[in-house]
Amino acid sequence: MPAFAAIVPHPSGTADRAALATRLSAAGPSLDLFERLAAAREAIAGRLVFTTSFGLEDQAIGHAILSQKLDIDLVTLDTGRLFAETHDVWAETERRYGRHIRAVVPERTAIESLIDVQGANGFRASVAARQACCHVRKVEPLNRALEGATGWVTGLRADQSQHRAEVAFASFDEARGVIKINPLYDWTRERAVAFTREHDVPVNALHAQGFLSIGCAPCTRAVAPGEPERAGRWWWEDEGKNECGLHANPLHLAARKALENAQS
Ligand code: SF4
Repeated sequence: MPAFAAIVPHPSGTADRAALATRLSAAGPSLDLFERLAAAREAIAGRLVFTTSFGLEDQAIGHAILSQKLDIDLVTLDTGRLFAETHDVWAETERRYGRHIRAVVPERTAIESLIDVQGANGFRASVAARQACCHVRKVEPLNRALEGATGWVTGLRADQSQHRAEVAFASFDEARGVIKINPLYDWTRERAVAFTREHDVPVNALHAQGFLSIGCAPCTRAVAPGEPERAGRWWWEDEGKNECGLHANPLHLAARKALENAQS
């Protein structure tokens, strides 16, 4: 495994962090999953956070982190609308590895206001209403989960959708100030399935029922054979917009919101 000199990110260290992300990305192809995570841990000084939704990819990454006892925080965004099966695999994962996984929950007054304005399932009314719900239940808690972090580990794969085609092993997320590590960037779904079987990793029972990408219960459905992997997310919206905002650049989102406000 290549050695990476750790750097200490600081407000003026943007160029250093971007350069480190480039170096890590260049090393990615020659490393396996275990080595990729170990290399990221070695290279990036400070707190690394892995946000898991307990989906297939995240379970593979969780296994590589927990079985190597890497010093990486495991956090889940408990939106309040998750499937019971997701809570089951969460508990099973804690049992298997003997470690609790920290939940970050939405801010209470924001949830109460959201429901006041939208009603119980108001996110179906429009794309803006859905994005407002995702913001309160996911994006804001994610921002809190990443406070003070220098690196963010995710389960993104480049072949999941057109939207994710540019995903690399490592990139610098300037808006959040973290190096984003996507150790499965070049994996297929089949490879992730094989990995979880080979290592006897617990997986969400819903995968066997055709749920490929699993998020909140009211916004996730099973997909038919041949349908795109993320077709079961927010399926009532335009095709190709199956993202919740977690992996969008928050500066871009803020700019878009300002534009929408100016136009309304
Ligand atoms: S996925 Fe659905 S329920 Fe979950 S935060 Fe987004 S809109 Fe709300």
